Amino acid sequence: MNRRLAVAVLLFSFVSLAPVRTNVIADEQSLLGYSAESSRTERQWEEKMRAIPSPEKLRAYMEHLAARPHNVGTALDKENAVWIATKFKEFGLDTHIEQFDVLYPTPKERVVELVEGGAKFVAKLQEPAVAQDPTSNQQSEQLPTYNAYSIDGDVTAPLVYVNYGIPEDYEQLERMGISVKGKIVIARYYHSWRGIKPKVAAEHGAIGCLIFSDPHEDGFVQGETFPAGAWRPKDGVQRGSVADMPLYPGDPLTPGVGATKNAKRLKIEEATTITKIPVLPISYADAQPLLAALAGRVAPDGWRGGLGMTYRIGPGPAKVHLKVKSNWDIKPVYDVIAKIPGSSVPDEWVIRGNHHDAWVNGAEDPLSGLDAVLEEARAFGELLKQGWKPKRTIIFCAWDGEEPGLLGSTEWAEEHADELRAHAVAYINSDVSGRGYLDIEGSHSLEKFSNEVSRDIVDPETKLSVWKRNQLHEIAEAKSSERRQEIRQRGDLRIGALGSGSDFSAFLQHDGVASMNIGFGGEDGGGIYHSIYDDFYWYTHFSDTDFVYGRALAQAGGSMVMRLADADLLPFEFGDFSETVQTYIKELKALAQKSRDDITERNREIEEGVFSATTDPKEPLVVPGVETVPTFLNFAPLDNGADALARSADAYRKAYELASANGGAALASASLAEVNRLLIESERKLTTPEGLPNRPWYKHQIYAPGFYTGYSVKTIPAVREAIESKEWKQADAAIVIVGQVLQDEAALISSAAAKLAVAK
Ligand SMILES: [Zn+2]
Repeated sequence: MNRRLAVAVLLFSFVSLAPVRTNVIADEQSLLGYSAESSRTERQWEEKMRAIPSPEKLRAYMEHLAARPHNVGTALDKENAVWIATKFKEFGLDTHIEQFDVLYPTPKERVVELVEGGAKFVAKLQEPAVAQDPTSNQQSEQLPTYNAYSIDGDVTAPLVYVNYGIPEDYEQLERMGISVKGKIVIARYYHSWRGIKPKVAAEHGAIGCLIFSDPHEDGFVQGETFPAGAWRPKDGVQRGSVADMPLYPGDPLTPGVGATKNAKRLKIEEATTITKIPVLPISYADAQPLLAALAGRVAPDGWRGGLGMTYRIGPGPAKVHLKVKSNWDIKPVYDVIAKIPGSSVPDEWVIRGNHHDAWVNGAEDPLSGLDAVLEEARAFGELLKQGWKPKRTIIFCAWDGEEPGLLGSTEWAEEHADELRAHAVAYINSDVSGRGYLDIEGSHSLEKFSNEVSRDIVDPETKLSVWKRNQLHEIAEAKSSERRQEIRQRGDLRIGALGSGSDFSAFLQHDGVASMNIGFGGEDGGGIYHSIYDDFYWYTHFSDTDFVYGRALAQAGGSMVMRLADADLLPFEFGDFSETVQTYIKELKALAQKSRDDITERNREIEEGVFSATTDPKEPLVVPGVETVPTFLNFAPLDNGADALARSADAYRKAYELASANGGAALASASLAEVNRLLIESERKLTTPEGLPNRPWYKHQIYAPGFYTGYSVKTIPAVREAIESKEWKQADAAIVIVGQVLQDEAALISSAAAKLAVAK
């Protein structure tokens, strides 16, 4: 589902700078968490593992699994699950399929037509087959273009163009004196997760929502369109879920519990994640006549797309009829779960997953990532035959129902929440993967670990380590000399924080399991996302055509899983985490200050008459109202929490140095069981039972998807979102809560440090 968000994270995060340090916390020869001797053994096993994944196998898996459409509820969805299970069994893994029963709407009636204000036009809502592409003609099996979990509706109203349909766009509309109340809005894809667009539209009184793919974002403005090139053709449509997943993901009828046969279910009317207004996605061929029939103001600069016409906002005279009706069925999802029992600590689980369902044929999304998981499992099967005995239990998961709403992974993680909270060490996810740079996002207690692993993976194009290539890429992209200096001197490259958009969400944000998401990208642009053209033909012509990056992904994922499963001491580290939390707090302070400054400045300009003097009487702008300047927030509880965290991270680092001295014999001792237990707890401690304000499903207090951004993360969300929405009292209250979470985390790390310091 999640297509290359990490790029945005790389570009926009971490404006503030951390003190530069060079910090080598272990004997450089030894892996983090390993004695010298066990490190040598581990490296040998990993070398063997990394030699196994094969591009030919990856190609064959993809060709087989993408042969026909396999969305939830189809025969092929189940056949693919059974096929994957058979593979895991062939590799020697203990495998079963777990079924959940979820609400899954599919389209029954879809109408978009221009009924007034221009020549009568009926939208095609259909992606045509392409002669060169052999699976694009499987029309009878293709899921029609739609947005899952749109409410049923039949509305006719004047149209308004709302740019990306995010909150800032509505602020601008308000300045222009344009209301969407009682109107149908048309928004373009991108700049938020798609489910945000109908949500914000409905909050502003709109009664319907169209979302179109503008060629500016992923069509001919970017490059040659399919089949001549990789980009979205004129009739290509992005399907996708519009459920309000920032509220809770998974089955809309069973929030917080597994959607088993007899689970207590909400009525459909009670499910708060279904949209409030009907919504449909359309191609730019279908959007153009509608947009061309808009009059009114010319759209501001940043609102103009690539259609080679004057973009106007409306409302009207274009009047649109939009009708959406779905079959609201309960459908089965099939999660494939495969285990390798741990030899000495079977109660500690390392979990690796990727989804198998797709919107249509889904070669890139999700099979490019699932491929790697299968090759990792095959490699582990080979190693087991050769005598490798992982200490901890390894669980491979091929999830179903990710596309409509992270269904399979969320229901599984809810159903097994108690076991996961007791046993899960970490969850490693992948999804879409292509060609280019290795993106790693995740829990910062694993930042050092993930850096270490990426130094051992070879980039297929440059033969540099993927770590080195990433570092040089970041230097090339850096916006300031301070940032370049940090990249050169800080021991570890920063990893982005996880928002949502793929199957890690329930593990990290609901169950508090340390998580990572990995995938290659950056040289694999295209516009086939969630269309019938995301298929084997497209992938083998325009993405990782020889599957060498697929092999590198299997090497990276496999190495991470092995290294976590075999470690003497779990390779968590808190220096990077502590420093990252400090950068978040700096950002929050700057954000609060900026909000104060902006309000003060605007009030002054209102008083000076700036707005009334500069408005064009022929195209007037509404003068904003005077706002109360907020009182200062009290950040002391967060600062104190961060300070305690820094001290505990330092104590842990010192204890680790002591334990790893002289070959690290202390690391191999049985007395570390208690330390490992505390390390596993360290991510759980960042959650609270009450969860976030107004969305209790999300329990993590450091990472959450933004309530108004969807995929992209909001760090320290309770505080950040309160500041953004100018809820100052709520912000002050949240600072106290998160401050306490950091204090508790610090106490746990100190206790782990004390136990580690006396390990023998
Ligand atoms: Zn996906």
